[in-house]
This record gives sequence, structure tokens and C-alpha cells, in this order.
Amino acid sequence: MTEIVELLRAGRDPKTHQLFIAGEWVDSVSGETFESLNPADRRDVVGRFQAGTAADVAMAVRAAEMALPRWKATPAPKRGEILYHYGALLADNKERLARAMTREMGKVIAEARGDIQEGIDIAFLMAGEGRRMAGETVPSELPDKWAMSIRQPIGIAGIITPWNFPMAIPCWKIMPALVTGNTVVFKPASDTPHCATLLVELMAEAGIPPGVVNLVTGAGAEVGDAIVESPDVSVISFTGHTSTGKHIAERAARRLKRVSLELGGKNAIVVMRDADLELATDGIIWSAFGTTGQRCTATSRVIVDGPAIGPLLERLEAKAKKLRLGYGLDDGVDVGPLINPAAVEKVGSYIEVGRGEGELVLGGAVATAGDLANGNFFAPTIFTGVEPMDRIAQEEIFGPVLAVMPFRDAAEALAIANDVRFGLTASVYTSDLSTAHAFARDVEAGFVWVNDSGRHFLGTPFGGFKESGLGREEDTEELYSYTQTKNVSVLFE
Ligand code: NDP
Repeated sequence: MTEIVELLRAGRDPKTHQLFIAGEWVDSVSGETFESLNPADRRDVVGRFQAGTAADVAMAVRAAEMALPRWKATPAPKRGEILYHYGALLADNKERLARAMTREMGKVIAEARGDIQEGIDIAFLMAGEGRRMAGETVPSELPDKWAMSIRQPIGIAGIITPWNFPMAIPCWKIMPALVTGNTVVFKPASDTPHCATLLVELMAEAGIPPGVVNLVTGAGAEVGDAIVESPDVSVISFTGHTSTGKHIAERAARRLKRVSLELGGKNAIVVMRDADLELATDGIIWSAFGTTGQRCTATSRVIVDGPAIGPLLERLEAKAKKLRLGYGLDDGVDVGPLINPAAVEKVGSYIEVGRGEGELVLGGAVATAGDLANGNFFAPTIFTGVEPMDRIAQEEIFGPVLAVMPFRDAAEALAIANDVRFGLTASVYTSDLSTAHAFARDVEAGFVWVNDSGRHFLGTPFGGFKESGLGREEDTEELYSYTQTKNVSVLFE
């Protein structure tokens, strides 16, 4: 915590940041601000940010509208070149950005570096797409006719993002929106406005023209709703809770807007009796407790072949006990804090539910030893003896809480894995190829791992089944979210 202590001693007044509209940094119309706090030490104020309102959104939308014709007319390879420059700037600033992310969001520095790396990778991937956005030419059924399709931007994209991947997720959305010729109004989570501000500063430096990307910080119900309701915003790309996603989808549907939704998960890892238990243990520990369980891909359900449950639990308990909680910039820290006190309260309430449903093996309490008392720390928690339909096995907790439950045969394992309303990710640990393939085919999830968990990489489509989302991100499939196809038929007599 040395860095924080120094900041507090210096008594530095936190900087007040501004909105970015039409290429200018400006105060919000209301003049109100809110603070962003370091979740590892709430005494550390990261900065003050503008509490944007519908009036600010209206100006941002107007700026995006004015910038649209020129940006749309910029050749896609040229748009790609600007994105390439942006990716290079992110890479040059990677360590500075990662440290700022750990301070504001809490994830440990190694994970923060991974988060920003995803931003770099998508900038380069989408830069290349500027040269590849091909349509089709098809044989015409009539003589002397030329039939072709072209992909065109939709217009203004409203980008609404969560705090848990505060740099990767905005980049996953903004880069494809830009390369396809759309302009953007960006509303980041209120827990991570500094990360968003840093990203947008570099966008301006990279040469993204004024008005093409506009940043409005402020409350979801005010700024987010105003973006969704704006008649001039034609596509909404949202990542966050399933309940918020449904609310957005309902409102957007009234105006027939396009929506792309990346939502919650209740992801299962299935461990067969023939699995390598060491490998499975490492995968579960990372998946359940990495990022303090605050990843949409995190596992919160482990479904274990009956005979393997004892040895697996022993290993999980031993490894989870060794995880060191703390400030993610300090050496040797494995697990950072939860994002805010409300998250601590929510996880705590699920512990009470879990005590009535299963048997607590480990954790189950806020962590307050020493410096941890100033932050939002919660001990890695394991419950066993949980029933598949119990609340802690069905509801997204979004914290370091794992529910372990047994199964009798592969069919039952699959049924338990599928019997939730979400369908984001799933893993199976087994040494049997047929079991692995059958699971991958039958499990209801948008992303499946075999003998692995939690790691995914750019260039493959990412998104959920069922209530985990609509649409795909992180690869070229995402370009469809931001383009509409136009058919052109030419008679040449
Ligand atoms: P929220 O849904 O609470 O918030 C997400 C964003 O939506 C924030 O910017 C928030 O603003 C904004 N928002 C809130 N209310 C509204 C509204 N009425 N209209 C428009 N926008 C609104 O989610 P969290 O930020 O807490 O993120 C955690 C969730 O995200 C988890 O459920 C997780 O599973 C999911 N997620 C899914 C991923 C995926 O790829 N499937 C990836 C990462 C996370 P504000 O912060 O001001 O409230």
C-alpha cells in the first residue's frame, strides 16, 4: 500500500475530469461531479468526474451526428490506420494504463496488463479489418445485370460498458464501431470513469477526429437511459447485468434500434473422475477467484463426479487458503478487492443464503486484517453439498463464491450444467476425448473449454447463449453489429 499511503500523506486534491464532446474537454451542464474511489483503500480518491445528464448526452449525440458524414466518407483503410496508431499508443502507455486500472478497479496488476493488452489487440485486429470489409458480388438471374452487396455504417453507436474490464470492453466495442464508419457516444461505468477518460485522451492523440468519439460520464439511469432513448442513436452495444440488458433491449425495441448485449453468467466447470485433478484445481482457482470472481466468464459452479469430490475439495481448499488478498500493485498479491461496498454487501447476503443451502468449507466473510479494513475485501469462499436448484447455484453473485455439487453420470452433469438461465461459458476436465467432444457439443454456452477455463483470446467470437446475451464480440462477427448490408443492382445495357 506504499503508493496509496504516499498519496494520502501528500494530501493531493484529486483532479476534476471532464466530458469529451466534439473534441473538447468540457464540464457537464449540471456542474455536478462524483468521486471515483480506490476499492483497495476507499480513502484514496482517484478523481472527480462530471455527473452528466440528458442535456450532455444531447450535445454528445449532436456532435456525433455532425462528425458522421465525414467519418463515414473516410476510406475504411484510412480509418483503420488511425486505429492502428491508437493501438500503438495504448502499447506505449500500457504500464501507466495498467497501474491506473488497478488503482481504480482493483484487479491485480498482472490482470490489468492483460486487460489493456486486449484493448491493444482489438485495435490492431480492427485496423486490419479496414482493408477487409468486403461485400459480395453474386451472379444475376437476369441478363446484363450486376448484383452486389456492400456493408455500410449504421450511424451513431451508443456504447455502455461495465467496470470489470474497464479498458478491454470499451475497446472491444469502440474499435469495430469506428472502423466500420460509425461515430460514438460512450458512457462508461460510474465505478471506472478514470479508465475511460485515459482511453479517450489517447483516442484524441491518435487522430480520431473531433466528434467521432464522445465521452459522457454519469449515472446509468440518467446518461445510459438518455443514450438508449435518443432517436438519433441507431445502435446500442451494452455489457453488464442481464437485468440492465433487458431494460435496454425493451426500450431500444420501441425504436427498432439494433442492440448487442453481453450479459451475466453462472458458469459451470465439470470435473470427471478421469480428470487431471491438479490441472482442474488450478483452473477452478483461477476461474473462481481471479479478478475476485468479478468476471462474466468466472466459474461459480463446480460439478464433480462423485468419487472425485473429496480429493478435489482438499486441493481446492489448500490452494484457496494460500491466496493473498491485497492492493493489486503490491508484490505477491493474488486477489484484489470487490468493486464497491454495495458489492461486499451483496456477496455477504449470498453467504447467508449459502449457509442455509450448503456446507461452508472456506471463507464466508469480509477480510479486514490490517490494511484490508480500508478496502472492499472478501475472503475466497467455497460451499459444498449445494443442490443444483439452490439460489447460490442459480443466481449470479459476481464475487469469490464457489458452489460445489456432485453428479452421478455424464448425463446428469450436463443436465446440471445446462439447468440455469445463463449460458456464457462452460468447462470440462476429462482425459476422455469422446466425453470432451460430447460435452462441447451439448452444453448450452457460447464459449466452451476442455481441460482449461477462463482464458479466451481475440479473433474468436465471444458471447452468450440464453440470458447471457445477444450478438458476438472480439472478432470479425462483431462487424455485423455495426454495419447494415445494402444490395446494389445495376443494369448495363
Ligand atoms: P450494470 O448493468 O450495473 O452496469 C453496466 C453499465 O450500464 C454501466 O455503465 C451502468 O452505469 C449502465 N447502466 C445502469 N443502468 C442503466 C440504464 N437504466 N440504462 C442504461 N445504462 C445503464 O453492470 P455492472 O457494471 O455491475 O457489470 C457487471 C455485470 O456485467 C455482470 O452481470 C457481468 O456478468 C456482466 N458482464 C458481462 C460480460 C460479457 O461479455 N457477457 C463481460 C463483463 C461483464 P452505472 O455504472 O452508472 O450504473
